Amino acid sequence: VGNTCLVVGGGVIGLSLAYELARRRWQVTVLDQAGIGREASWAGAGILPPANAETALHPLDRLRALSDRLHWEWAPRLLQETGIDTGLRRCGGLYLARTAGEAALLAAMSHTMQEERIVCRRLTLNELIALEPGLEQAAASGQLRAVYELPDECQLRNPRYLQALAAACRLYGVEIVPDCKVTQLHDDGSRLTHLTTEQGIKQADAVVIASGAWTQRLLAQHGIATGVFPMRGQMLLFKCDRPPLRRIVNEGIRYLVPRDDGYLLAGSTEEEAGFDKSNTPTALAELTEFATTLVPALKRARLEKTWAGLRPATFDGFPYLGRLPGLSNAFVASGHYRSGLHMSTGTAHLMAQLLCAETPEIDLTPFRVARG
Ligand SMILES: Cc1cc2nc3c(=O)[nH]c(=O)nc-3n(C[C@H](O)[C@H](O)[C@H](O)COP(=O)(O)OP(=O)(O)OC[C@H]3O[C@@H](n4cnc5c(N)ncnc54)[C@H](O)[C@@H]3O)c2cc1C
Repeated sequence: VGNTCLVVGGGVIGLSLAYELARRRWQVTVLDQAGIGREASWAGAGILPPANAETALHPLDRLRALSDRLHWEWAPRLLQETGIDTGLRRCGGLYLARTAGEAALLAAMSHTMQEERIVCRRLTLNELIALEPGLEQAAASGQLRAVYELPDECQLRNPRYLQALAAACRLYGVEIVPDCKVTQLHDDGSRLTHLTTEQGIKQADAVVIASGAWTQRLLAQHGIATGVFPMRGQMLLFKCDRPPLRRIVNEGIRYLVPRDDGYLLAGSTEEEAGFDKSNTPTALAELTEFATTLVPALKRARLEKTWAGLRPATFDGFPYLGRLPGLSNAFVASGHYRSGLHMSTGTAHLMAQLLCAETPEIDLTPFRVARG
Protein backbone atom coordinates (compact mmCIF):
# COMPACT_ATOMS: atom_id res chain seq x y z
CA VAL A 1 0.00 0.00 0.00
CA GLY A 2 2.89 2.43 0.70
CA ASN A 3 4.23 3.79 3.93
CA THR A 4 2.26 6.88 4.83
CA CYS A 5 -0.99 6.48 6.73
CA LEU A 6 -3.79 8.71 7.98
CA VAL A 7 -5.63 7.38 11.02
CA VAL A 8 -9.03 8.99 11.58
CA GLY A 9 -9.74 8.94 15.32
CA GLY A 10 -7.34 9.35 18.23
CA GLY A 11 -8.99 6.95 20.66
CA VAL A 12 -7.32 3.81 21.95
CA ILE A 13 -7.79 2.01 18.62
CA GLY A 14 -6.35 4.81 16.47
CA LEU A 15 -3.43 5.48 18.83
CA SER A 16 -2.56 1.78 19.22
CA LEU A 17 -2.52 1.28 15.48
CA ALA A 18 -0.49 4.46 14.95
CA TYR A 19 2.02 3.21 17.53
CA GLU A 20 2.29 -0.22 15.89
CA LEU A 21 2.63 1.20 12.37
CA ALA A 22 5.19 3.78 13.48
CA ARG A 23 7.27 1.01 15.05
CA ARG A 24 7.15 -0.63 11.62
CA ARG A 25 8.56 2.63 10.16
CA TRP A 26 5.35 3.98 8.67
CA GLN A 27 4.87 7.73 8.66
CA VAL A 28 1.56 8.16 10.48
CA THR A 29 -0.77 11.10 11.10
CA VAL A 30 -3.65 10.78 13.58
CA LEU A 31 -6.58 13.17 13.08
CA ASP A 32 -9.20 13.70 15.78
CA GLN A 33 -12.26 15.92 15.69
CA ALA A 34 -11.80 16.77 19.37
CA GLY A 35 -9.01 16.14 21.88
CA ILE A 36 -6.86 13.02 21.70
CA GLY A 37 -8.11 10.09 23.77
CA ARG A 38 -11.00 11.98 25.34
CA GLU A 39 -13.98 9.87 24.26
CA ALA A 40 -14.97 6.25 25.01
CA SER A 41 -11.35 5.27 25.56
CA TRP A 42 -10.97 7.77 28.38
CA ALA A 43 -14.44 7.03 29.81
CA GLY A 44 -13.96 3.25 30.11
CA ALA A 45 -13.08 1.14 33.13
CA GLY A 46 -10.10 -0.86 31.83
CA ILE A 47 -11.30 -4.33 32.77
CA LEU A 48 -9.52 -7.14 30.90
CA PRO A 49 -11.34 -10.46 31.46
CA PRO A 50 -9.13 -13.52 30.92
CA ALA A 51 -8.92 -15.60 27.74
CA ASN A 52 -6.83 -18.59 26.69
CA ALA A 53 -5.16 -18.48 23.27
CA GLU A 54 -4.74 -22.26 23.13
CA THR A 55 -8.38 -23.10 23.68
CA ALA A 56 -10.33 -20.08 22.42
CA LEU A 57 -12.81 -21.04 19.72
CA HIS A 58 -14.85 -17.87 19.36
CA PRO A 59 -13.20 -15.23 17.12
CA LEU A 60 -13.67 -12.57 19.82
CA ASP A 61 -11.96 -14.78 22.41
CA ARG A 62 -9.04 -15.32 20.04
CA LEU A 63 -8.72 -11.56 19.62
CA ARG A 64 -8.95 -11.15 23.40
CA ALA A 65 -6.25 -13.78 24.01
CA LEU A 66 -3.91 -12.27 21.43
CA SER A 67 -4.53 -8.87 23.00
CA ASP A 68 -3.70 -10.22 26.47
CA ARG A 69 -0.35 -11.54 25.30
CA LEU A 70 0.44 -8.20 23.69
CA HIS A 71 -0.69 -6.10 26.68
CA TRP A 72 1.98 -7.84 28.77
CA GLU A 73 4.56 -6.97 26.08
CA TRP A 74 3.36 -3.42 25.50
CA ALA A 75 3.03 -2.27 29.15
CA PRO A 76 6.73 -2.72 30.07
CA ARG A 77 7.81 -1.36 26.70
CA LEU A 78 5.59 1.73 27.05
CA LEU A 79 6.98 2.23 30.56
CA GLN A 80 10.52 2.05 29.22
CA GLU A 81 9.78 4.35 26.27
CA THR A 82 7.67 6.97 28.04
CA GLY A 83 8.11 6.50 31.79
CA ILE A 84 4.33 6.06 32.12
CA ASP A 85 3.01 3.05 34.06
CA THR A 86 -0.30 2.07 32.42
CA GLY A 87 -1.44 0.32 35.60
CA LEU A 88 -1.72 -3.11 33.99
CA ARG A 89 -2.30 -5.44 36.96
CA ARG A 90 -3.45 -9.01 37.44
CA CYS A 91 -5.82 -7.97 40.22
CA GLY A 92 -8.34 -10.80 39.78
CA GLY A 93 -12.09 -10.50 39.40
CA LEU A 94 -15.13 -11.60 41.33
CA TYR A 95 -18.49 -12.36 39.71
CA LEU A 96 -21.55 -12.10 41.94
CA ALA A 97 -25.16 -13.17 41.46
CA ARG A 98 -28.06 -11.90 43.53
CA THR A 99 -30.88 -13.30 41.35
CA ALA A 100 -31.58 -16.82 40.10
CA GLY A 101 -31.11 -15.63 36.50
CA GLU A 102 -27.68 -14.18 37.23
CA ALA A 103 -26.68 -17.34 39.10
CA ALA A 104 -27.64 -19.45 36.06
CA LEU A 105 -25.59 -17.19 33.78
CA LEU A 106 -22.57 -17.50 36.06
CA ALA A 107 -22.90 -21.30 36.16
CA ALA A 108 -22.84 -21.29 32.34
CA MET A 109 -19.86 -18.92 32.36
CA SER A 110 -18.03 -21.24 34.74
CA HIS A 111 -18.61 -24.23 32.40
CA THR A 112 -17.23 -22.29 29.43
CA MET A 113 -14.21 -21.21 31.48
CA GLN A 114 -13.56 -24.82 32.48
CA GLU A 115 -13.73 -25.94 28.85
CA GLU A 116 -11.30 -23.21 27.88
CA ARG A 117 -9.05 -24.01 30.85
CA ILE A 118 -9.39 -20.54 32.39
CA VAL A 119 -9.27 -20.66 36.18
CA CYS A 120 -12.74 -19.97 37.59
CA ARG A 121 -13.50 -21.00 41.17
CA ARG A 122 -16.83 -20.98 42.92
CA LEU A 123 -16.37 -19.44 46.38
CA THR A 124 -18.21 -19.97 49.63
CA LEU A 125 -19.22 -16.81 51.47
CA ASN A 126 -16.47 -17.42 54.03
CA GLU A 127 -13.89 -17.70 51.27
CA LEU A 128 -15.24 -14.49 49.77
CA ILE A 129 -14.91 -12.62 53.07
CA ALA A 130 -11.38 -13.96 53.55
CA LEU A 131 -10.40 -12.65 50.11
CA GLU A 132 -12.30 -9.37 50.25
CA PRO A 133 -13.20 -8.23 53.79
CA GLY A 134 -14.80 -5.13 52.22
CA LEU A 135 -17.63 -7.38 50.98
CA GLU A 136 -18.37 -8.84 54.44
CA GLN A 137 -21.67 -7.01 54.90
CA ALA A 138 -22.86 -7.97 51.42
CA ALA A 139 -21.96 -11.59 52.14
CA ALA A 140 -23.78 -11.47 55.49
CA SER A 141 -26.91 -9.93 53.96
CA GLY A 142 -28.02 -13.27 52.55
CA GLN A 143 -28.47 -11.75 49.08
CA LEU A 144 -25.53 -13.38 47.33
CA ARG A 145 -26.66 -16.58 45.61
CA ALA A 146 -23.36 -17.38 43.91
CA VAL A 147 -19.82 -15.98 43.80
CA TYR A 148 -17.01 -16.97 41.42
CA GLU A 149 -13.40 -15.88 41.36
CA LEU A 150 -11.39 -15.37 38.15
CA PRO A 151 -7.84 -14.85 39.45
CA ASP A 152 -6.51 -13.99 35.97
CA GLU A 153 -8.76 -11.00 35.37
CA CYS A 154 -6.64 -7.87 34.86
CA GLN A 155 -7.11 -4.14 34.73
CA LEU A 156 -5.32 -1.15 33.28
CA ARG A 157 -5.72 2.55 33.94
CA ASN A 158 -7.04 3.70 30.61
CA PRO A 159 -6.26 7.45 30.91
CA ARG A 160 -2.62 6.53 31.63
CA TYR A 161 -2.56 3.96 28.84
CA LEU A 162 -3.77 6.67 26.43
CA GLN A 163 -1.14 9.11 27.69
CA ALA A 164 1.55 6.48 27.23
CA LEU A 165 0.37 5.59 23.73
CA ALA A 166 0.24 9.25 22.66
CA ALA A 167 3.71 9.91 24.12
CA ALA A 168 5.18 6.81 22.45
CA CYS A 169 3.54 7.77 19.15
CA ARG A 170 5.23 11.16 19.31
CA LEU A 171 8.58 9.52 20.10
CA TYR A 172 8.23 7.45 16.94
CA GLY A 173 7.41 10.57 14.90
CA VAL A 174 3.63 10.23 14.62
CA GLU A 175 1.93 13.55 13.92
CA ILE A 176 -1.10 13.97 16.18
CA VAL A 177 -3.65 16.55 15.07
CA PRO A 178 -6.53 17.41 17.44
CA ASP A 179 -9.54 19.56 16.45
CA CYS A 180 -9.40 18.18 12.94
CA LYS A 181 -12.74 16.66 12.00
CA VAL A 182 -12.76 14.58 8.84
CA THR A 183 -15.88 15.63 6.97
CA GLN A 184 -15.61 13.69 3.72
CA LEU A 185 -13.78 10.81 2.06
CA HIS A 186 -12.95 11.02 -1.67
CA ASP A 187 -12.06 8.13 -3.99
CA ASP A 188 -11.33 7.47 -7.65
CA GLY A 189 -13.34 4.27 -7.81
CA SER A 190 -10.61 1.98 -6.49
CA ARG A 191 -8.62 4.01 -3.92
CA LEU A 192 -9.28 6.73 -1.38
CA THR A 193 -7.51 9.73 -2.88
CA HIS A 194 -7.90 12.31 -0.07
CA LEU A 195 -9.90 13.43 2.93
CA THR A 196 -11.60 16.77 3.46
CA THR A 197 -11.00 17.94 7.03
CA GLU A 198 -11.60 21.06 9.09
CA GLN A 199 -7.90 21.75 8.60
CA GLY A 200 -7.85 21.31 4.83
CA ILE A 201 -7.21 18.38 2.49
CA LYS A 202 -5.19 15.42 3.84
CA GLN A 203 -3.62 12.65 1.74
CA ALA A 204 -1.66 9.47 2.38
CA ASP A 205 -0.97 6.06 0.87
CA ALA A 206 -3.41 4.40 3.29
CA VAL A 207 -6.32 5.55 5.46
CA VAL A 208 -7.73 3.80 8.52
CA ILE A 209 -11.08 4.83 9.96
CA ALA A 210 -10.90 4.36 13.74
CA SER A 211 -13.58 6.83 14.71
CA GLY A 212 -15.39 4.71 17.31
CA ALA A 213 -19.09 5.38 17.78
CA TRP A 214 -18.99 8.03 15.01
CA THR A 215 -17.84 5.58 12.32
CA GLN A 216 -21.22 5.00 10.73
CA ARG A 217 -21.75 8.76 10.29
CA LEU A 218 -18.53 9.06 8.34
CA LEU A 219 -18.87 5.94 6.23
CA ALA A 220 -22.59 6.35 5.48
CA GLN A 221 -21.76 9.61 3.68
CA HIS A 222 -19.57 7.52 1.45
CA GLY A 223 -22.28 4.93 0.82
CA ILE A 224 -20.68 2.25 3.02
CA ALA A 225 -23.00 0.61 5.53
CA THR A 226 -21.68 -0.60 8.86
CA GLY A 227 -23.80 -1.31 11.89
CA VAL A 228 -21.84 0.83 14.39
CA PHE A 229 -23.96 2.81 16.83
CA PRO A 230 -23.32 4.62 20.14
CA MET A 231 -24.21 2.88 23.42
CA ARG A 232 -23.93 5.19 26.41
CA GLY A 233 -22.27 4.04 29.60
CA GLN A 234 -22.35 6.14 32.78
CA MET A 235 -19.68 6.03 35.46
CA LEU A 236 -18.93 7.29 38.97
CA LEU A 237 -15.49 7.80 40.51
CA PHE A 238 -15.03 7.53 44.28
CA LYS A 239 -11.91 8.36 46.28
CA CYS A 240 -11.28 6.38 49.46
CA ASP A 241 -8.44 6.78 51.96
CA ARG A 242 -7.46 3.16 51.37
CA PRO A 243 -8.61 0.78 48.59
CA PRO A 244 -11.74 -0.94 49.97
CA LEU A 245 -11.28 -3.85 47.52
CA ARG A 246 -8.39 -5.52 45.71
CA ARG A 247 -10.34 -7.33 43.03
CA ILE A 248 -12.74 -6.11 40.38
CA VAL A 249 -16.31 -6.94 41.39
CA ASN A 250 -18.75 -7.72 38.56
CA GLU A 251 -22.48 -8.23 38.77
CA GLY A 252 -24.36 -8.40 35.45
CA ILE A 253 -23.43 -5.28 33.47
CA ARG A 254 -22.29 -3.47 36.63
CA TYR A 255 -18.92 -3.45 38.28
CA LEU A 256 -16.62 -1.86 40.83
CA VAL A 257 -13.01 -1.35 39.77
CA PRO A 258 -10.57 -0.49 42.56
CA ARG A 259 -7.32 1.31 41.67
CA ASP A 260 -4.20 0.92 43.82
CA ASP A 261 -4.35 4.49 45.17
CA GLY A 262 -7.89 4.43 46.61
CA TYR A 263 -9.80 5.56 43.52
CA LEU A 264 -12.70 3.27 42.71
CA LEU A 265 -14.88 3.28 39.60
CA ALA A 266 -18.53 2.23 39.71
CA GLY A 267 -20.23 1.52 36.41
CA SER A 268 -22.08 1.19 34.23
CA THR A 269 -25.21 1.46 32.08
CA GLU A 270 -26.06 0.38 28.54
CA GLU A 271 -28.30 3.03 27.00
CA GLU A 272 -29.24 3.93 23.46
CA ALA A 273 -29.25 7.71 23.79
CA GLY A 274 -27.76 8.74 20.45
CA PHE A 275 -24.68 10.92 20.85
CA ASP A 276 -25.86 12.40 24.16
CA LYS A 277 -23.12 12.02 26.77
CA SER A 278 -25.07 13.39 29.75
CA ASN A 279 -25.35 11.72 33.11
CA THR A 280 -28.89 11.09 34.33
CA PRO A 281 -29.96 11.35 37.99
CA THR A 282 -31.65 7.93 37.84
CA ALA A 283 -28.58 6.08 36.58
CA LEU A 284 -26.30 7.86 39.06
CA ALA A 285 -28.64 6.99 41.94
CA GLU A 286 -28.82 3.33 40.84
CA LEU A 287 -25.06 3.04 40.48
CA THR A 288 -24.53 4.68 43.88
CA GLU A 289 -26.99 2.25 45.44
CA PHE A 290 -25.24 -0.69 43.72
CA ALA A 291 -21.82 0.46 44.95
CA THR A 292 -22.77 1.30 48.52
CA THR A 293 -24.85 -1.85 49.15
CA LEU A 294 -21.92 -4.01 48.11
CA VAL A 295 -19.26 -1.89 49.83
CA PRO A 296 -20.77 0.22 52.63
CA ALA A 297 -17.39 1.93 53.16
CA LEU A 298 -18.14 3.85 49.95
CA LYS A 299 -20.84 5.81 51.81
CA ARG A 300 -17.95 7.63 53.52
CA ALA A 301 -15.89 8.00 50.34
CA ARG A 302 -15.68 11.22 48.35
CA LEU A 303 -17.56 11.22 45.04
CA GLU A 304 -14.88 12.72 42.76
CA LYS A 305 -16.51 12.81 39.41
CA THR A 306 -19.23 11.41 37.15
CA TRP A 307 -19.22 11.03 33.35
CA ALA A 308 -20.59 9.07 30.43
CA GLY A 309 -18.97 7.67 27.31
CA LEU A 310 -20.21 6.32 23.99
CA ARG A 311 -19.20 2.73 23.33
CA PRO A 312 -19.00 1.84 19.66
CA ALA A 313 -21.58 -0.97 19.55
CA THR A 314 -22.31 -3.16 16.51
CA PHE A 315 -25.41 -5.09 15.51
CA ASP A 316 -23.70 -8.50 15.93
CA GLY A 317 -21.21 -7.68 18.69
CA PHE A 318 -18.16 -8.03 16.41
CA PRO A 319 -15.90 -5.08 15.62
CA TYR A 320 -15.22 -4.19 11.99
CA LEU A 321 -11.61 -4.94 11.14
CA GLY A 322 -10.65 -4.91 7.50
CA ARG A 323 -10.56 -3.21 4.14
CA LEU A 324 -13.39 -0.98 2.97
CA PRO A 325 -15.20 -2.72 0.11
CA GLY A 326 -13.85 -1.72 -3.32
CA LEU A 327 -11.07 0.52 -1.96
CA SER A 328 -7.59 -1.00 -1.94
CA ASN A 329 -5.99 1.49 0.46
CA ALA A 330 -8.82 2.17 2.94
CA PHE A 331 -9.47 0.27 6.15
CA VAL A 332 -11.71 0.36 9.19
CA ALA A 333 -11.04 -0.66 12.81
CA SER A 334 -14.13 0.25 14.83
CA GLY A 335 -16.96 -1.19 16.86
CA HIS A 336 -15.20 -2.75 19.84
CA TYR A 337 -18.18 -2.04 22.11
CA ARG A 338 -17.28 -3.00 25.72
CA SER A 339 -13.79 -4.35 24.96
CA GLY A 340 -11.89 -1.76 22.96
CA LEU A 341 -9.30 -1.07 25.65
CA HIS A 342 -8.75 -4.78 26.01
CA MET A 343 -8.65 -5.55 22.28
CA SER A 344 -6.60 -2.51 21.28
CA THR A 345 -3.25 -4.29 21.20
CA GLY A 346 -4.52 -7.26 19.16
CA THR A 347 -6.40 -4.94 16.82
CA ALA A 348 -3.30 -2.82 16.20
CA HIS A 349 -1.20 -5.93 15.56
CA LEU A 350 -3.68 -7.48 13.10
CA MET A 351 -4.45 -4.24 11.26
CA ALA A 352 -0.73 -3.48 10.90
CA GLN A 353 -0.24 -6.95 9.43
CA LEU A 354 -3.06 -6.27 6.97
CA LEU A 355 -1.63 -2.89 5.95
CA CYS A 356 1.81 -4.47 5.50
CA ALA A 357 0.29 -7.16 3.23
CA GLU A 358 1.15 -9.92 5.71
CA THR A 359 -1.27 -12.70 6.62
CA PRO A 360 -2.99 -11.61 9.85
CA GLU A 361 -2.23 -13.89 12.80
CA ILE A 362 -5.99 -14.37 13.32
CA ASP A 363 -8.45 -14.89 10.49
CA LEU A 364 -10.23 -11.56 10.03
CA THR A 365 -13.13 -12.95 7.97
CA PRO A 366 -15.66 -12.77 10.86
CA PHE A 367 -14.78 -9.08 11.26
CA ARG A 368 -15.06 -8.08 7.56
CA VAL A 369 -16.95 -4.91 6.67
CA ALA A 370 -19.42 -6.42 4.19
CA ARG A 371 -21.26 -8.90 6.41
CA GLY A 372 -25.03 -9.22 6.81
C1 LIG B 1 -18.45 3.44 30.55
C2 LIG B 1 -17.57 2.60 29.68
C3 LIG B 1 -16.87 1.54 30.24
C4 LIG B 1 -16.01 0.76 29.45
N1 LIG B 1 -15.27 -0.23 30.05
C5 LIG B 1 -14.40 -0.95 29.30
C6 LIG B 1 -13.58 -1.94 29.91
O1 LIG B 1 -13.66 -2.15 31.11
N2 LIG B 1 -12.72 -2.67 29.11
C7 LIG B 1 -12.62 -2.44 27.77
O2 LIG B 1 -11.81 -3.10 27.12
N3 LIG B 1 -13.39 -1.49 27.17
C8 LIG B 1 -14.27 -0.76 27.90
N4 LIG B 1 -15.08 0.18 27.31
C9 LIG B 1 -15.10 0.23 25.86
C10 LIG B 1 -13.96 0.99 25.29
O3 LIG B 1 -13.82 2.20 25.98
C11 LIG B 1 -14.21 1.24 23.79
O4 LIG B 1 -14.49 0.02 23.13
C12 LIG B 1 -12.98 1.87 23.14
O5 LIG B 1 -12.61 3.01 23.86
C13 LIG B 1 -13.23 2.23 21.71
O6 LIG B 1 -12.10 2.92 21.24
P1 LIG B 1 -12.15 3.77 19.93
O7 LIG B 1 -10.80 4.32 19.71
O8 LIG B 1 -12.78 2.96 18.83
O9 LIG B 1 -13.24 4.91 20.24
P2 LIG B 1 -13.10 6.40 20.96
O10 LIG B 1 -12.25 6.31 22.14
O11 LIG B 1 -14.47 6.88 21.09
O12 LIG B 1 -12.28 7.16 19.86
C14 LIG B 1 -12.83 7.53 18.63
C15 LIG B 1 -12.24 8.89 18.28
O13 LIG B 1 -12.62 9.25 16.95
C16 LIG B 1 -12.82 10.64 16.92
N5 LIG B 1 -13.65 10.92 15.75
C17 LIG B 1 -14.91 10.53 15.53
N6 LIG B 1 -15.36 10.98 14.32
C18 LIG B 1 -14.33 11.68 13.78
C19 LIG B 1 -14.16 12.39 12.56
N7 LIG B 1 -15.16 12.49 11.66
N8 LIG B 1 -12.98 13.01 12.33
C20 LIG B 1 -11.96 12.94 13.24
N9 LIG B 1 -12.07 12.27 14.42
C21 LIG B 1 -13.25 11.65 14.68
C22 LIG B 1 -13.49 10.94 18.26
O14 LIG B 1 -13.33 12.31 18.63
C23 LIG B 1 -12.74 10.00 19.20
O15 LIG B 1 -11.65 10.62 19.85
C24 LIG B 1 -15.90 1.01 28.07
C25 LIG B 1 -16.59 2.09 27.51
C26 LIG B 1 -17.40 2.89 28.30
C27 LIG B 1 -18.10 4.06 27.68
